[in-house]
Amino acid sequence: MTQNTASKTAIVTGGASGIGLAIVEKFIQQNIKTIVIGRDEQKLKDVKDKFGELCITESYDLSNLEGIPALVERLAQEHGRLDILVNNAGINQKKPFVEVTDEEFQRINTTNVTAVFALSREVVKTMLPHGDGSIVNISSMASQYGIPKVISYTASKSAIEGMTRAMATELSPMGIRINCVAPGFIRTAMSATAMKSDPERMNRALSRTPMGDFGSPADVAEAVYFFASDGARYVTGTVLPVDGGNSIGF
Ligand code: NDP
Repeated sequence: MTQNTASKTAIVTGGASGIGLAIVEKFIQQNIKTIVIGRDEQKLKDVKDKFGELCITESYDLSNLEGIPALVERLAQEHGRLDILVNNAGINQKKPFVEVTDEEFQRINTTNVTAVFALSREVVKTMLPHGDGSIVNISSMASQYGIPKVISYTASKSAIEGMTRAMATELSPMGIRINCVAPGFIRTAMSATAMKSDPERMNRALSRTPMGDFGSPADVAEAVYFFASDGARYVTGTVLPVDGGNSIGF
């Protein structure tokens, strides 16, 4: 049973495109009021036009860490109790290891890790008084594999999984569950860029995927919804690959 999410409120970061957009669509279908955080005004307008009243958009660059406490405080004031947080926004960079600068490493990790930490911390503060909440982080199969020339992203996604487990041990006794979905190759703008920059590696990886194909954003959204819903009430601290079997080692 994965019901009982109607009348809940969720935040989905990066929810105006790719995997995030599919998560928003799934949540709206389940009558979850969904606050979409992103930077691109046009994409936010499009998502609002598409989903209407249940969808709230918030233009915010999550690399602006200082503003996150005020952002969450305002969202909680305007929309009431925050029940679900999906940390989906992420950025990638492909560059030879020795050419990656400190600034680039930090830029990727600020969005992919520090902002996830800061946003989760502020949302958890609002969840604690209710003793209830679900946080779903989006990592990547990159956390398990060494992928050449993807150092900053790989480090960030491994950090997300460690953070998921640490938060789950501390917060689950207070009713807040934290889980993680680790997508494999999913058809989005991000994977299209990877395919363009290194088609040989991508095709090699695809040939090692038992299901023999890329996944869709909707495949990831189904897993995220499960973790967000009461159907997962006894599930916390887990990392679920949604990767067509890629992580089995084919
Ligand atoms: P997209 O590039 O399509 O979407 C990323 C989203 O993140 C965009 O909506 C973007 O919003 C948002 N975002 C990025 N930086 C910021 C920021 N500083 N502040 C606010 N929003 C931001 O990527 P995907 O949908 O492919 O990826 C979604 C997640 O899934 C990522 O965490 C990614 O690492 C992970 N993933 C994806 C895989 C794939 O094959 N596609 C595989 C494994 C993991 P805006 O455009 O408004 O800036």
